[in-house]
Amino acid sequence: MSAAILELSDVHKHYTNGDTTVRALDGVSLTIRRGEFVAIMGQSGSGKSTLMNIVGCLDRPTSGSYRVLGKEAANLSADELASLRRETFGFVFQRYNLLATATAGENVEIPSVYAGLPKQKRSQRASGLLQRLGLGDRTDHRPNELSGGQQQRVAIARALVNDPPVILADEPTGALDTRSGDEVLTLLKELHAEGRTIILITHAENVAQHASRIVRIQDGQILDDNGTIETETVDATGAENKVCASGVSLGTSMQEALVTAWRSLQVNMFRTVLTLLGIIIGVAAVVAMLAVGEGSRQKVLDRISSFGTNLMLVRPGAEGIRNSGDIATLIPEDAAALKKLPNIETALPERSGRMTVRYGNRDYQTSVQGTGEDFPSAREWQVAEGQFFNADDMKQYAPVVVLGGTVAKTLFPDGRASVGKYVLLKNVPFLVIGVMTEKGASPNGSDQDDVIFLPINTGLVRLFGKNYLSSITLKVSDAADIAATQERVENLLRERHRTEDFRVRNMASYLQAAMETQDTFTLLLGTVAAISLLVGGIGVMNIMLVSVVERTREIGIRMATGARTRDILLQFNIEAAVVCAAGGLLGILVGVGAGMILRYSGMTVIFFMTPALLAFACASATGLIFGYLPARKAARLDPVIALASE
Ligand code: ADP
Repeated sequence: MSAAILELSDVHKHYTNGDTTVRALDGVSLTIRRGEFVAIMGQSGSGKSTLMNIVGCLDRPTSGSYRVLGKEAANLSADELASLRRETFGFVFQRYNLLATATAGENVEIPSVYAGLPKQKRSQRASGLLQRLGLGDRTDHRPNELSGGQQQRVAIARALVNDPPVILADEPTGALDTRSGDEVLTLLKELHAEGRTIILITHAENVAQHASRIVRIQDGQILDDNGTIETETVDATGAENKVCASGVSLGTSMQEALVTAWRSLQVNMFRTVLTLLGIIIGVAAVVAMLAVGEGSRQKVLDRISSFGTNLMLVRPGAEGIRNSGDIATLIPEDAAALKKLPNIETALPERSGRMTVRYGNRDYQTSVQGTGEDFPSAREWQVAEGQFFNADDMKQYAPVVVLGGTVAKTLFPDGRASVGKYVLLKNVPFLVIGVMTEKGASPNGSDQDDVIFLPINTGLVRLFGKNYLSSITLKVSDAADIAATQERVENLLRERHRTEDFRVRNMASYLQAAMETQDTFTLLLGTVAAISLLVGGIGVMNIMLVSVVERTREIGIRMATGARTRDILLQFNIEAAVVCAAGGLLGILVGVGAGMILRYSGMTVIFFMTPALLAFACASATGLIFGYLPARKAARLDPVIALASE
């Protein structure tokens, strides 16, 4: 006699539903030896499927002992059971249980994927089996393109792919016409002849007759067993040799999970796109908003630092009071006094106003600025032609002007010389002694070259008609000491004015204040964007949960064919991660696109890598985190329950 391969002794399976207990199996003892062809026969409700689930390690008995190849199944963990299933059993179900989204070849491969067989060997084996079962030309067909009989043959090929010693067939002919049913039975007999142990579950007498041993079951108990009939043809040793590695390499299952993920996302394309949209919007928002934030920050920074960080500005009017109109508190003598302070390199008394300048019959409105002779060095802005006015011009109230580039071009088109000509300001003739180099537009878009400079003294007397200043620009020698210098400036002015009717700002402090505002702004934008990413993540979780419910049966099939908890966990997690990573990539593109549009519409937008990478990483992490819960839910499903779901 050959060795016992499966041994059940006094196995009970009870289902309790409220007060009633159903004894689906009620003390079953059964030994099946290697190489037997056993039919388990009984009426519907007799407990056949329950027995098959226990035999196939899909379910555990309530009590009693079940040993597979001498190992007590009750002592095995879920993953050990999975590997036992994978290595020992090939399942054939009444309803075929093929994955609708996979081709025949891929369906056949599934158990070998979980067994860790390399891709090439897998497909070789799968197509070899399909060939043998007469489906060589159907490898790339999906189940819905195959007849029932063909689908069942695919299922048999799947059961054989890991070359298991035992084939468990649960009503394999139940859904088939007579001819297809006969084909399947012939096939089972062939497999038996090759040395496999076949357990056939059926309610039909004529089907059971194909087996060499018939075990009749009723109300969860064995009614009759025509005993063990030794078959001579059996070569029981071959089947036990494993064709596959016992563990799945992470790489293989990862790759497989990626393919499966992509497949299942493709099947529900519309839903996938909607889910993606959530992530895309989130990531795009992060990228675009932070680019806008950075742009506006840079713009403010440029504007302020173009003025120079070693500069201080004194303006008339007390702190905190909105001043309208002119305030007559700063005078040129203040500038002269300030210039004598230590660390002050230059003090420029300034006043400006808009005026019409005339040359010949051309009139042009521009900004006229009275300033000191040190202007070019303080503002690092040189003349292009002629010269800037000097201290003598200042003392003598000389009627001279230096033109900004735009004014020079407007009044003297075609490159005609302007230096040495006279222009009229308020009908007073002024000699053009120089033209400034062009500075171009300021960061806020105004034309810095649309200006005329003249000695402040001349301006106050001849043009502005009043003897006070609109500002004093101070340049310090040592920018590091700017705070102390500012204090000295304030003290001196307070002494001179006997009141605090002025404000002093240094550019560094402007810069800092502006940066703080900008950072808050960027943070605000970033937060809004992060919230939308979070909402996207919740969307992903929602869809994944729905997907788990929808695909419970698929999960059951995968588990029956040997998937471990972590294979299922990995698969669903990867699906979520794939959605989020794809959403992340598209989101970056959309974000950059949106930023480009904003830039085109005149906004300063600066892209930088960090937020894009960060958003992508966030999206992928969102996938992993929000995908974990659904994935765990899927992985924890009981294989029997999962298989039973419609
Ligand atoms: P068969 O496969 O022979 O038709 P089953 O093994 O499916 O029979 O069921 C045997 C008995 O156990 C039936 O009375 C059935 O109603 C009951 N049963 C099966 N599964 C469950 C379950 N999950 N919960 C409660 N009762 C069940």
